[in-house]
Amino acid sequence: MDNQQILMPFVNVRMLGRQYDPNTYQYHQVGLGLEGSTPREYVHGQITTLKTAMIHPIVQRVPFDLRTSLFLFRNLHAALGLVNINLHDTRRDHNTVVLEPASGETDGRLLVHYETGPAEAERIRHAMRRVRRVLRRLGCFVPPGMAHVRPMGASVHYCGLLPMSRARDPWTTSSLGQSHDFDNLFFVDGTTFPFLPAKNLTFSLMANAARIADCAF
Ligand SMILES: Cc1cc2nc3c(=O)[nH]c(=O)nc-3n(C[C@H](O)[C@H](O)[C@H](O)COP(=O)(O)OP(=O)(O)OC[C@H]3O[C@@H](n4cnc5c(N)ncnc54)[C@H](O)[C@@H]3O)c2cc1C
Repeated sequence: MDNQQILMPFVNVRMLGRQYDPNTYQYHQVGLGLEGSTPREYVHGQITTLKTAMIHPIVQRVPFDLRTSLFLFRNLHAALGLVNINLHDTRRDHNTVVLEPASGETDGRLLVHYETGPAEAERIRHAMRRVRRVLRRLGCFVPPGMAHVRPMGASVHYCGLLPMSRARDPWTTSSLGQSHDFDNLFFVDGTTFPFLPAKNLTFSLMANAARIADCAF
């Protein structure tokens, strides 16, 4: 599993014309959470100001020459922000990770295959509509055509290869991360997650590892 991410730049109208102050820069310290009809449908947004590497893809998309785009960017800088929208993921039958063994001179390779179903496009559109609406209510607007749907695999939030399962199936674990294939093997990272929530997973990984250490040993 992997979180689908969408980068949505916005303009904060009240900040237009103000001087950009690099000391106000913050990275992912402000978040927005949109609840869905079930807890699983939660959509997470991380809000950041724009700096360095974030600027290039945006300037590149402004439909003017580089000089004009940079001029506009410098004068809009203080008003610009970005929401990194994260969607939850579920296990999908067609998604696989295969370790291809080395042969002869060729190194082994990790082959990742990720397929999204037809419902994915609508899920993305729906989340984007909701975030746009929230931003509008906060006095911000999203310039048309600027949002970027990142390719799967870009979020670096991976998990679920050997998920917890009530059934003792091969390639699964108990709720305490104990392998169903080898009794003396416990997994304490994201591999055992049976579901990937939209909110970044690292604190959950840490809490889960502590839970397994407390309960299993
Ligand atoms: C650039 C980047 C930004 C991120 N930002 C965020 C964020 O803002 N918020 C968030 O929640 N998550 C973020 N993540 C994701 C988060 O870092 C990972 O989900 C998390 O670190 C995974 O933890 P882990 O313990 O499962 O695996 P890892 O942290 O990958 O730990 C695996 C460990 O196993 C070791 N190892 C591998 N093979 C062997 C071997 N054969 N023998 C011995 N040791 C081995 C590795 O050296 C490594 O230390 C980010 C990831 C990246 C790459």
